[in-house]
Amino acid sequence: MGRTVYVNGAYVDEADAKVSIFDRAFLFGDGVYEVTSVIDHELVDADAHVERLDRSLRELGMAWPCTPDELVAMHSELIARNDIDEGVVYMQVTRGEAERDFHFPADTPTSLVAFTQKRGLLDNPKAETGVKVVSMPDIRWQRRDIKSTALLAQVLGKQAAVENDAYEGWMIEDGHVTEGTSSSAYIVKDGTVITRPLSNAILPGVTRRTIVQLMAETDVTLDERLFTIEEAYAADEAFLTSASTFVLPIVDIDGRLIGGGKPGPVARRLRDIYIQEARRSST
Ligand code: PLP
Repeated sequence: MGRTVYVNGAYVDEADAKVSIFDRAFLFGDGVYEVTSVIDHELVDADAHVERLDRSLRELGMAWPCTPDELVAMHSELIARNDIDEGVVYMQVTRGEAERDFHFPADTPTSLVAFTQKRGLLDNPKAETGVKVVSMPDIRWQRRDIKSTALLAQVLGKQAAVENDAYEGWMIEDGHVTEGTSSSAYIVKDGTVITRPLSNAILPGVTRRTIVQLMAETDVTLDERLFTIEEAYAADEAFLTSASTFVLPIVDIDGRLIGGGKPGPVARRLRDIYIQEARRSST
């Protein structure tokens, strides 16, 4: 018996989980997804993930496969059945199964699948050492605000990072950093956190949203503006955020040491504050 996963209304063993080769996510990347972290057997920021999913579905003209409450209940059921104390729940909605043709199929129900990944999130050794990042051109499409399953540019970016012994790739467009291949990007200069404002150019990170809210309750100031990779090289600190890594300090960008190669105080503090809040508010 492997994990119990969810496929269109049924909880099944992962070995028995099947989707059609005609599923439009398989043929076109015509789907959207969410990754929600789990701490102490509870979902973190579930409402914000539901809200972003709703937006992604609306932007692509896709119907909800169930109600938002049913979606959250399904997540909780997977957490319970797989005894996930810490980890993530991955879910995706696709435009369903239809004869291959580019335009939207008529009267085709959307498809919903989900699975859990058990992994340690709180005691992450990378939070102590910091991580290395390499920059690369942003070759993605222009609707990066939609959390689409079409992730080939990010697959190539992450592979290039791994081949350069780095943890993450920071993508650059018109001379400015957009974001990481699977994370939001920040630098810190003179006590101010700088991150790109929300637009079609980046994914509205759920962790970013929470961090921005939490920062407002501290003496750390926030400047939402574009920044160049050269500014990042000269920053006091850099860090990234994502649902599964929370806040991770960056200590090396393109071979230049940031903050003397050690995690900085702002990133450390924001990680602590974020984890405290996540534990307090997990549903
Ligand atoms: N940016 C991109 C491109 C991502 O893929 C992700 C997460 O997968 C993020 C940012 C961070 O978003 P979140 O904090 O919602 O995980």
